[in-house]
Amino acid sequence: MDYIAARLIGGRQSTVNRIVIHGTSSACKRGGARGNAAWFQNAKARGSAHYVVDPGEIVQCVPEDRVAAHAPPNTGSIGIELCDPNAGDPLRWYDPPHTEMLDRAAPLVRGIAARHSVPLVWIDHRQILAGQRGITSHHEVTLAYHQSTHTDPVGWQPELLMVRLRHVWTPIFPGADDRTRGGHDVAEAQIRLQILAARWHAPDVDPGGVDGIHGPRTAKAIEAFKRRIQGLQRASGQPEWPSTDPIIGPATIGMLRWWTGQ
Ligand SMILES: [Zn+2]
Repeated sequence: MDYIAARLIGGRQSTVNRIVIHGTSSACKRGGARGNAAWFQNAKARGSAHYVVDPGEIVQCVPEDRVAAHAPPNTGSIGIELCDPNAGDPLRWYDPPHTEMLDRAAPLVRGIAARHSVPLVWIDHRQILAGQRGITSHHEVTLAYHQSTHTDPVGWQPELLMVRLRHVWTPIFPGADDRTRGGHDVAEAQIRLQILAARWHAPDVDPGGVDGIHGPRTAKAIEAFKRRIQGLQRASGQPEWPSTDPIIGPATIGMLRWWTGQ
């Protein structure tokens, strides 16, 4: 891994409480990490990060025991920039360059977490404010402290990284009958989809309310949920969910329960 020192390297930090994921607002392509590292050396650059990752390599720009200017308040955090335009279809996160980049970022995150005893858990803005330690995004740090307006990485969902860190993925109820449609299942699915839509910042997964009716918006949300899960399964080399039908049955409910942590 090359080290290209950023212009902005702050004071020492002895404890690391969070690892913060960013998007660079530049193309996800080989050479992107080097390009961003070069920008961090520029006299006009007003930020820095510990690492920049692209599909081909990782470049370090700030030592881990020094503060970088990436997501204020910066002290006690490590910033990782992923090369991404921060715009476009969220499903771009599943394309080959992004997949290579995420596969490269995962061992880096695992190493940082091990060196600083940071738990391999995703923390949102409420958990950050509650003092929990873990992995988060610039967006969540912004929501927690309002010390910047950045919402990157755009289109991000934590599972893109977490599924690669945990190496846990077991299809639930393989072969289960997923052909039923019932009011109770629909309402539960809607509640869980709302949780995931908020957690993933993913409006396509939002069913638009809880009415227990399998209407067009709920059908679209279920399809979007299944597409996202298939993308994650593909990215982690797991067998894919067989369909994107808007049907809600035991397999869908099981998958929703797993992803909402219950
Ligand atoms: Zn950022």
